[in-house]
Amino acid sequence: MSAILAERLALISQQGLYRRTIDYEPVDAAHVQKDGRIYLMLATNNYLGLTHQPAVQQAAATALAFGTGSGGSRLTTGSHLEYAALERELAAFKGCEAALVFNTGYMANVGAISALAGPDDMVFSDELNHASIIDGCRLARGRTVVYRHNDAADLAAKLAATDCAGLRLIVTDGVFSMDGDIAPLDDIVAVAERYGAMVMVDDAHATGVIGPGGHGTAAYFGLQGRIDVQMGTLSKSLAAEGGFIAGSQVLINYLVNTARSFIFSTALAPATVAAARAALEELIVRPSLVDKLQENARFLRQALAEGGLAVSPGETPIIPVMVGEAAAATALAEELRSEGIIVSAIRPPTVPPGSSRLRITVSAAHCREELAGAAECIVRTAKRLGITGEEN
Ligand SMILES: *Cc1c(COP(=O)(O)O)cnc(C)c1O
Repeated sequence: MSAILAERLALISQQGLYRRTIDYEPVDAAHVQKDGRIYLMLATNNYLGLTHQPAVQQAAATALAFGTGSGGSRLTTGSHLEYAALERELAAFKGCEAALVFNTGYMANVGAISALAGPDDMVFSDELNHASIIDGCRLARGRTVVYRHNDAADLAAKLAATDCAGLRLIVTDGVFSMDGDIAPLDDIVAVAERYGAMVMVDDAHATGVIGPGGHGTAAYFGLQGRIDVQMGTLSKSLAAEGGFIAGSQVLINYLVNTARSFIFSTALAPATVAAARAALEELIVRPSLVDKLQENARFLRQALAEGGLAVSPGETPIIPVMVGEAAAATALAEELRSEGIIVSAIRPPTVPPGSSRLRITVSAAHCREELAGAAECIVRTAKRLGITGEEN
């Protein structure tokens, strides 16, 4: 076995795609430490910086009194009281009747999509949807049709061209995880209503990020009440771990009975759920956090563009800087690391060949001076490596 696996790994290495984990010691929401050096973190999904907010940390610490683990699945003995409260609060935040928490966002997508799309049903999925949506489609027994990225006309054509006796589920990221662009949910909902299809939106990068008060993609477009399935995570803006589905009570009852990733996995620890509750509460009482996040995103995006880098336009804290070749993106990320800045290099197969990029994210925890310094450093380093906006 070892020889076969080593051979497969060698192939991955040859393609420059070999990966390993890097362990950091978090210092605060915007900095990590490694080997005695402090780095500025520009690659986290901790958009509101709430992982280190005292009220959130205190809530988790207090809930440790209930034990460090839940000891059972939700349907056996693991459904502690923090869950009922969080699900009520998430439903209210999303303007829905009910919500259901899963152990991760990945499990929420995989569980919900595979439960909703039975043999007679069909899923219509954006070509750039997150891997957890793709895996949900693979596990679903219904057929999947992939439509062109953010193209409601292509979606409509594909809905028109297929006949389906059962449910038709359209699923899209609200904010796309790699490019940070926003799905045209208003157009998608119009198409869905025309064809009697359901809409599911993945708000992993939208909850706490876009829409008034950070309520997400439906709120951004004023579509509250018209989205059948709103998925979100507790792992990004909400500073903990887990995912959730919000929707009608009947949808939630159905998922409790059919979503296998919900049924067959041990419930989250009380401290995790309590942290998510406290983070949601912070978001609700301090919507200015979302304003700060958006201002930071605007500031860094503009500084990088003015420095001559090929920054894709947008309005989310996910800022892609186009580089081109995979080797150049890797080299730039490594140089920036030696300058004390952590950013992600995104390469094929995650993105098409020739469109490798840095994926830079900002949070509300960053301060202006640091972002200004980082922008100057990124621009200077890119120029030194011969990477400019014009080439791309
Ligand atoms: C991160 C992410 C998920 C998965 O959420 P986890 O809580 O990390 O499992 C799902 N969808 C999108 C778009 C994401 O970015």
